[in-house]
Amino acid sequence: METVKCLIIGGGPAGYTAAIYTSRADLSPVLYEGIQPGGQLTTTTEVENFPGFENGIDGNQLMAAMKAQAVRLGADIRNGLVTSADLSSRPFKITVDGDKEISAETLVIATGASAKYLGIPSEEKFRGMGVSACATCDGFFYRKKDVAVVGGGDTACEEATYLASLCRKVYMIVRRDVLRASAAMQDKVKNTPNIEILWNCSTEEILGDASGVTGARIARKDGGTFEIAVDGFFLAIGHHPNSELFSQWVNVDGTGYIITEGKTSRTNVEGVFAAGDVQDPSYRQAVTAAASGCRAAMDVEKFLNR
Ligand code: NDP
Repeated sequence: METVKCLIIGGGPAGYTAAIYTSRADLSPVLYEGIQPGGQLTTTTEVENFPGFENGIDGNQLMAAMKAQAVRLGADIRNGLVTSADLSSRPFKITVDGDKEISAETLVIATGASAKYLGIPSEEKFRGMGVSACATCDGFFYRKKDVAVVGGGDTACEEATYLASLCRKVYMIVRRDVLRASAAMQDKVKNTPNIEILWNCSTEEILGDASGVTGARIARKDGGTFEIAVDGFFLAIGHHPNSELFSQWVNVDGTGYIITEGKTSRTNVEGVFAAGDVQDPSYRQAVTAAASGCRAAMDVEKFLNR
């Protein structure tokens, strides 16, 4: 069985950054990228808020550059999906693609989180062409335009108010007659004049043409449909942390986010660290994920040098 000092699971900003730092610390990291090499940023177009790129950078390019940097520094980055993990004792036993077993002295879990989508075909068709699950990432492209946000939680309210500061009009599509969000966030939304809440409504179809989203067909709970004209369609119906493989061993919160100790990346299992969106229900930005990948690498180094 192959033995590695540091195994990193996840090929997003957290994983690649952990690989950069552990390579420079001579820990010869091995990183498995999972099913979406590059992570969530590969589903967006231009990234304008990652520091260091005056004119923005394409999400795929940014991730390719992070990966290339890690490889240049010596990280062994591999295609492959971790399919099971036994963290009952060190070294940990990790299985990749159902058959390859690896023994890892330390583990960095950087498997990210996935935005939840509605599951309608037109959403897939226009993903990256007006459909987005990140207002902070993509809102800027809809300045002075009309957009819609689906959801009634804190994220939806936060995204709607953020978009309202940029866009002409924001529709919030809410499936019940109440918002799930905290009272403070609800007040903020209700006091923002260019947000219109479409209560008891669900999205039947996202409409568009070759240039992208042009609108949405909305169904009322009590029957009937109507159309809204929008250029951007934002999903804010929650995220799902990709922690299932590990939740038998590491502590997770009520929604599945891995719990880390204070400002560190340490989990309750000695030698297992978590970085990026899989342990961060609040910020979920590429730059915060990268920063937590750095922390995890430094924690790994400290742990191995105890
Ligand atoms: P939530 O699970 O809290 O809310 C999801 C929202 O999406 C709900 O309104 C839900 O409706 C709606 N929804 C779910 N599925 C569908 C669907 N298929 N179609 C239409 N609507 C749907 O997720 P959030 O991401 O908003 O928040 C996650 C956690 O993070 C929460 O604990 C939240 O408080 C926290 N958070 C805190 C922030 C802050 O404090 N600043 C900012 C952002 C998040 P329904 O209500 O009917 O179930």
